[in-house]
Amino acid sequence: MISEINPLELLPKDELLKDYIKRIRELKGLTRLKLAKLAAVHVSTIARIESGSTGAEKPRREVQERICKALQIPVEYMQASAKGQSVSHPQTNKVCLSCWVPGSSPDIRWSEVDARFCLKCGAGLRDQCERCKEPILLRGRFCPGCGSSYKRD
Ligand SMILES: [Zn+2]
Ligand SMILES: [Zn+2]
Repeated sequence: MISEINPLELLPKDELLKDYIKRIRELKGLTRLKLAKLAAVHVSTIARIESGSTGAEKPRREVQERICKALQIPVEYMQASAKGQSVSHPQTNKVCLSCWVPGSSPDIRWSEVDARFCLKCGAGLRDQCERCKEPILLRGRFCPGCGSSYKRD
């Protein structure tokens, strides 16, 4: 398990799909073969994406979803990258205040647009300080607005 990846590193930034997928794969410490196995696709599919030979005809949606699931990134990131767009910031910075260790990388699944509850404990996700409503600062342990600890206990 690789747990200490800054979620900002997972965002596509002015790079081609082939470079993006390769970068994320390497960030996660996966070989092409390992990623192919995790995503249940043929290793040549990964090789084609990373060589850029899929080009404009992107991998099928189903394949995209499996690869993104294996890489633990929202499929929107891969699609943005395939269109040559960069995603400059996470769509949300929601966290589960029960499971999140303040200052550490939040679970990427919390940041999906329609995620409302934590998949681990079922608690509602928050993107604001419960006291002062300042947006939660993902790198911090304390709210910059009111100085209180994000951790309730
Ligand atoms: Zn939780
Ligand atoms: Zn606050």
